[in-house]
Amino acid sequence: MVKKDGMLEIDGSQILPRAVFEASGHLASFTDPLVRCSKCGSVFRPDKLVEEKTGKQVPEKLEDAEYDSLMDKSGVKCLKCGAKLSGTSRFNMMFRVGIGPSMEEAYLRPETCQSIFVDFPLLFKTQRVKLPVGIAQVGRSFRNEIAPRQGLIRLRELNQAEVEVFFNPGKLDSPRFDWAQSEVLSFRYPDGKDARISVAEGIADGVVPNRLVGHYLALMAKFYEVAGIRPEGLRFRVLSEEDRAFYSKAAFDLEVKLSMGWLELVACNYRGDYDLGRHAKVSGTDFTVDDGGEKVLPHVFELSMGVDRSVYAVMESSMTGEGDRRVMALRPYLAPVQACVFPLVNKDGLQEAAIALFRELQEHLEVFYDESGSIGRRYARADEAGVPFCVTLDYDTLKEDTVTLRSRDTRQQERVAMSDLAGKIVSLTGFPTIRAKARQA
Ligand SMILES: [Zn+2]
Repeated sequence: MVKKDGMLEIDGSQILPRAVFEASGHLASFTDPLVRCSKCGSVFRPDKLVEEKTGKQVPEKLEDAEYDSLMDKSGVKCLKCGAKLSGTSRFNMMFRVGIGPSMEEAYLRPETCQSIFVDFPLLFKTQRVKLPVGIAQVGRSFRNEIAPRQGLIRLRELNQAEVEVFFNPGKLDSPRFDWAQSEVLSFRYPDGKDARISVAEGIADGVVPNRLVGHYLALMAKFYEVAGIRPEGLRFRVLSEEDRAFYSKAAFDLEVKLSMGWLELVACNYRGDYDLGRHAKVSGTDFTVDDGGEKVLPHVFELSMGVDRSVYAVMESSMTGEGDRRVMALRPYLAPVQACVFPLVNKDGLQEAAIALFRELQEHLEVFYDESGSIGRRYARADEAGVPFCVTLDYDTLKEDTVTLRSRDTRQQERVAMSDLAGKIVSLTGFPTIRAKARQA
């Protein structure tokens, strides 16, 4: 995505001073509702308790008293002692830290994007870019979640990949966005209706605010399709005005369908000039830039991806198999281990030959050596771990320097000369290039 769109990449600080979060609004409003049991002192998220009890989604951004009345209505009780719960308050989820011996007030970043905003004027000036431009960052963020759970889904230390696209709101018609007009995306509207429509239709319908946003929504959907998620299992949930922040002009949650239901992977948010405007105000710095002779405070379209939950989603979506056979059919270019090396038996020199081949392949690929159990068992273990190719050395290997290369997805085996093996696996597990696609066509 980053390369295709010509984005910049940065690696910002994880610790940022108070002023950054004063400007961003996190100090005042990066809070979760919290209710403490008056009898036993246990702490809960009132919205989650109600959701678990009723099976219905609780809207975001309710008043504290509204949570109290929801808990009352749905009969939610303390999970520990059974007492009635009331008295919702607010908990700021940022981890506070101190800088230097004077312990100057600072925080671990709760999202990666704030350093993209504060660095924007300098990046724009020094990197010789023009609007519109995306700036991307991957890294750790920290949130003092009241109830982290579901493994990779809700973590206190999470990995994010965020893109902030800066653009001139008066110029939204770049030919760069043409390709996306015919891309078909799924939308879930606030009233519960679903539609599968092209970006152009979405713009005509008003659900997609402009061509630039359509371009990035389509890029995002493509990204997950390339990662192995079926398009039918992806949708953009359109956030209603009540569910959006006051500055947000349009917002979508990219969701994926998993065994646990629909899970949000990416928050896509048209944030207007809120972020740059706030940082300009609090820092007293000019955040306007030159766009073809016009002085402009850029608008921002944000794509905020949860990396950990995306990894989980890709893994779950890749699980297939029939009967007892379990296969994690990761795309070969995503597989952490690209090939396994097996000697057919551990005698007659096959073991030594296999170890030598394994060492050689290690220089080019991520490989795993396995000599225990039957060949069938070893194939099954490799399939389940998502390894796309297995290499087996047998008696013919010793005679003619060839091995068996077995594909996880087709279960076909072919004889390959040892000298061609590394190059062959590298090309089979490489990211499909434009040239390879053209060849297929
Ligand atoms: Zn209690």
